[in-house]
Amino acid sequence: MLVATPIGNLGDLSPRALAALRDADAVLCEDSRVTGGLLSRQGVAATMIPLHDHNEAAQAPRAGERFALVSDAGTPLVSDPGYRLVRAAIEAGVMVSAIPGPNAAVMALSLSGLPPHPFLFLGFLPAKAGPRAAEVGRLRQVERAGLSATLVFYEAPHRLAEALAALAEGLGADRPAAVARELTKRFEEVRRGALGDLAAHYATAEARGEICIVVGPAPLEEAGEGELDAALRAAFAAGLSLRDAAASVAEATGLKRRDVYRRALELGGEAG
Ligand code: SAM
Repeated sequence: MLVATPIGNLGDLSPRALAALRDADAVLCEDSRVTGGLLSRQGVAATMIPLHDHNEAAQAPRAGERFALVSDAGTPLVSDPGYRLVRAAIEAGVMVSAIPGPNAAVMALSLSGLPPHPFLFLGFLPAKAGPRAAEVGRLRQVERAGLSATLVFYEAPHRLAEALAALAEGLGADRPAAVARELTKRFEEVRRGALGDLAAHYATAEARGEICIVVGPAPLEEAGEGELDAALRAAFAAGLSLRDAAASVAEATGLKRRDVYRRALELGGEAG
């Protein structure tokens, strides 16, 4: 069972999550000090098994064993360990289920005021300036080829200013964005603005705590019709209905919904 745990506010541990931790034969975790703290606060005495890169796949439960997987915070596997374990369990024919719960990326996205779908979660940008600029450059290329999605990143506080500067430089200083900090905690804050303004703000203001960066979609009107078609096709490929695809692309681009709908109808017709 993949069990989501709080990203700050302990009140976000759900009753189902607590029951799963109580009932588990073992709790697979990242750092047993962090998970041990969570369990002892809840009065749960469980066997913990720390996961490491080298033992992850080998920890898949055997038939009849009930294992809970948690990470230090939030939803396991999302910029956290667990993927190899889940693969191993699936391959071994073991039933895998999840207890959903807190996730910083989705919470930041929903508070950002930016179009919520389509969105692309990218995790952490590279820590070093060169690889980070290269990654942002690749993203811009993909956008030029038609990707128009809200982008969500995780970032460490001491790299926030340089990450925002790299995003402003590579994606455009005018792109709307948001920095979500300390979500669910006492000093929760969402600062919204253009990437260039946010970069300038954090160049002088020290950022503390845990941080997500959300960047609004590339404006398609600059990019022309080919990219409108590509965005609509991407929305269809993601399973959106014609109406939802048109609404989402219109919202993301600022183009008139009626125009986007008409083009979606043509493309939807073409797609059969
Ligand atoms: N699995 C976690 C989840 O579901 O959100 C994310 C784990 S990742 C190793 C940790 C990063 O998530 C942090 O460096 C930060 O970028 C982001 N994060 C976690 N908690 C947060 C919070 N309370 N507020 C803002 N960002 C947070």
